Amino acid sequence: MSEDSARRHVPESPADGPVVIVENLHKSFGSNEVLTDIDLEVAANEVLCIIGPSGSGKSTLLRCLNRLETVTSGTLTVLGYDLGHSRTDMNAVRKRVGMVFQGFNVFPHLKVLENLALAPRKVSKISKRAARERAVELLRKVGLPDKADSYPRELSGGQQQRVAIARALAMQPQLMLFDEPTSALDPETIGEVLNVMKDLANEGMTMVIVTHEIGFAREVADRVVFMDEGKIVEQGDPKDVLEHPSHDRTKAFLSRIT
Ligand code: ADP
Ligand code: MG
Repeated sequence: MSEDSARRHVPESPADGPVVIVENLHKSFGSNEVLTDIDLEVAANEVLCIIGPSGSGKSTLLRCLNRLETVTSGTLTVLGYDLGHSRTDMNAVRKRVGMVFQGFNVFPHLKVLENLALAPRKVSKISKRAARERAVELLRKVGLPDKADSYPRELSGGQQQRVAIARALAMQPQLMLFDEPTSALDPETIGEVLNVMKDLANEGMTMVIVTHEIGFAREVADRVVFMDEGKIVEQGDPKDVLEHPSHDRTKAFLSRIT
């Protein structure tokens, strides 16, 4: 191992340059290649929305970004950390990358406040009091100031998903990944979750969001990526991609879902 590659697990200047750099990424499950030659960059403070049909590889790409999946080939740099490097401290990366899934991945046996305080206490070793204060503040931020002592089952789907977002934020991430965060929600609670995400965008959070909410993407995204069959078919300004797509596959997809 060269001296240079031995050092690369430590980010040189995570505050500078793109937050995510994906180069020439390929991912296969057995003989099934589900991501083909993906190149993608996400700048600091950027909101990137990924759209595309079911099975096009959106979730797999997102999962590669915090190494819930290992890549078959290519390079992936997140917050300056080289995810392909054996010496990269993945716990350090995951601490800085928040993820929210379609299902509400809150701990059902813990009260809302305990859900929010757990990781900061265990992983970041902050005091019980500081974790509590941070949790209370985050519950206010996501519009649930009076739910600290509720159990997740006592909340609606939209409220649980806001708890999931608050829980991710409790680790003070520098990048947030969302995988169809509103797809499992009743229509009347989708808006409250999207509004929380909109607030985050306005505060400058760097976000990668897989979504079918085209109106949200048009309004909030800085850039939209359309994926199909494991490839990025086109990307660009939301207005261009969503209102004047240049590829037939993008047109067909948009006409199916809007
Ligand atoms: P999307 O999120 O766009 O619906 P996915 O990333 O979930 O797409 O899936 C892309 C392809 O990868 C699909 O064909 C899916 O069946 C396959 N796939 C995803 N996860 C696995 C896995 N763990 N093992 C095998 N195949 C998988
Ligand atoms: Mg998916």
